[in-house]
Amino acid sequence: RAKEQGKARYEIFDRAMYAEAIQKLQIENDLRQAAVGQEFHLNYQPIVSLDTGKIIGFEALLRWLHPERGLISPSQFIPIAEETGLVVPIGEWVLFTACSQMKQWQTKFSHPPAKISVNLSLKQLREPDFLEKIDRILTETEIAGESLNLELTESMLMDNVEELIFVLGQLRARNIRLSIDDFGTGYSSLSYLHRFPIDYLKVDRAFISGIGAGGKSRQIAATIISLAHQLGIKAIAEGVETPTHLQHLHALDCEEAQGYLFSKPLDLAAAESLILTNPQW
Ligand code: C2E
Ligand code: MG
Ligand code: MG
Ligand code: MG
Repeated sequence: RAKEQGKARYEIFDRAMYAEAIQKLQIENDLRQAAVGQEFHLNYQPIVSLDTGKIIGFEALLRWLHPERGLISPSQFIPIAEETGLVVPIGEWVLFTACSQMKQWQTKFSHPPAKISVNLSLKQLREPDFLEKIDRILTETEIAGESLNLELTESMLMDNVEELIFVLGQLRARNIRLSIDDFGTGYSSLSYLHRFPIDYLKVDRAFISGIGAGGKSRQIAATIISLAHQLGIKAIAEGVETPTHLQHLHALDCEEAQGYLFSKPLDLAAAESLILTNPQW
């Protein structure tokens, strides 16, 4: 019996894996078409200064509106885009679109946000002509480097350290600011961290959600924020959902925050009305 049960379970597992593989293949095929069919757009989530309570920036987040499946989350398709290399042209579209949006806001509003943050994938950063692409985008969209913030993840800092330090230094020379996203979830080599010319650590949502629960999360969040300060850079908290989260972050001297407490990622129209009304939290 046990053996039969085991076999049945194995078959179920096998079928699930098969279905997953098929779905992956479909997403990959559809991704190739998506750019052509203009199925991508950006949402914008405000980043708030905890000092002033004002919006100081927006993070651009990619959205894929599939003609049949509807909205597909980036956590579902970005890994596939990375595997297939499609993340390079898609990421370039994101960068260009975010920067031209920033330019429009600077033209249109008397109090535009100070920065737009864009998520980068390792494949993009490793393109031999990455810096040329960046220069072309800044020139074409006519925004200054200091208006752009690029978000990297810890895992991107793992190999080819010297080469990466060079590229990041070149971005810095253009006044582009750099953040390490989801900090604390990857396997960062703390021994290298001070060698990277970064400006922000983004404390992962995992540590913010447990911050008031009396467990270890608050200590971890506190440690990351103080690590940032000891490196002479700023901390941004991700996934701030409650006034309690916010209270703790104030007490820990965290500089900036992002999360549903302030606002979910917004479509363009909603982001613009937020810039106009300029609410304070
Ligand atoms: P991320 O860069 O860490 O972005 C933050 C994610 O957390 C977003 O999910 C956002 O909607 C969500 N979030 C923000 N505030 C809260 C909150 O208070 N509570 C909860 N539960 N969630 C919150 P989203 O938009 O689904 O993006 C997921 C990930 O996909 C991003 O994580 C980023 O790693 C990746 N991604 C998104 N856009 C791009 C892109 O243009 N290029 C690349 N390479 N990756 C992207
Ligand atoms: Mg991010
Ligand atoms: Mg993040
Ligand atoms: Mg995160």
